[in-house]
Amino acid sequence: DPILTLRDLRKGYNHGKPNEVRVLNGVDLTVQPGEVVALVAPSGAGKSTLLHIAGLLDTPDTGTVAIRGEDMTDLGDRRRTAIRRNDVGFIYQFHHLLPEFSALENITLPQMANGVADADAKARAMQLLDTVGVAHRASHRPAELSGGEQQRVAFCRALANDPVLLLADEPTGNLDPATSDRVFDALMGLVRSTGLAAVIATHNLDLAARMDRAVRLVDGRLVAGAA
Ligand code: ADP
Ligand code: ADP
Repeated sequence: DPILTLRDLRKGYNHGKPNEVRVLNGVDLTVQPGEVVALVAPSGAGKSTLLHIAGLLDTPDTGTVAIRGEDMTDLGDRRRTAIRRNDVGFIYQFHHLLPEFSALENITLPQMANGVADADAKARAMQLLDTVGVAHRASHRPAELSGGEQQRVAFCRALANDPVLLLADEPTGNLDPATSDRVFDALMGLVRSTGLAAVIATHNLDLAARMDRAVRLVDGRLVAGAA
C-alpha cells in the first residue's frame, strides 16, 4: 500500500462570500514507502493548506486522505488524533517548540505521551540530536538556540515517534548550506533505512532535485516536476 493517498482534494475559504478563495481544486498525490516528494509552490499557492490536510490537522471540503490505505474521512476524533500523533511527523516553518522545555525534553515528551520509558525516550532523542549535530545543545531551551538549531530540534521531534509519514514545510530554510546538507542527508538516511515516506515543501530547486520526484502546486492542482 502507499503510505499517503490524496484523491481529488478540494478546499476553499469563505464559501459564498465575496472574499471566497478556492485553494485546492482537485489535488491527487500518492506517496510510496521510502519515497521523498518535493512540494514546490509559490507563497500563497496553498502549500500549508495541503500539508495540514495531509497531516490531519485540517479537513478538505471534499476528497479523501488515506494513510497506509486507511480512509481518514469518517474517522472519529480519537482515532484521528492517535494517527496524527503516532504515524505522522510534522516539521513547521516556525518550529513550535515548547519554550519552557529543553531541546531534549521537546523530543522525549511526545515519546513519553506514547508510553515510551524515560530512558529509552532519552536515548532515542540523543541519537536523533546527534545525527543532525545538536547533541551538545540537548539541555538548552529553544530561546537559547539559534534558528537553525531550533529547526534541527524540530526535525528530531517530528521523527521521535518513528512516524510512517513525514510532512515538512521548508525544513532546511534557515540553515547554512553545509548544515542543510547534513539535515537532508540525515533525512534521506532515515527514509532509506525505515521506509518512511516524506512530502517536503521547499523553494530550493537544488534540494528538490535531490528528492525522488517533485510536484508543484499550480491553480490548486499538482503537476509533475519542479519547474
Ligand atoms: P501557502 O502555504 O502556499 O503560502 P496557504 O495554504 O497558507 O498558502 O494559503 C493559501 C491561500 O488560502 C492564501 O490565499 C491564503 O490567504 C488563504 N487562506 C489560508 N487560510 C485561510 C483562512 N483560514 N481563511 C481564509 N483564507 C485563508
Ligand atoms: P497536543 O499533542 O499538544 O494535543 P495536537 O496533537 O493537537 O497537540 O497537535 C500537535 C502539534 O500540531 C502541536 O505542535 C500543535 O501546536 C500543532 N497544531 C495543531 N493544530 C494545528 C493547526 N491547525 N495548524 C498548525 N499547527 C497545529
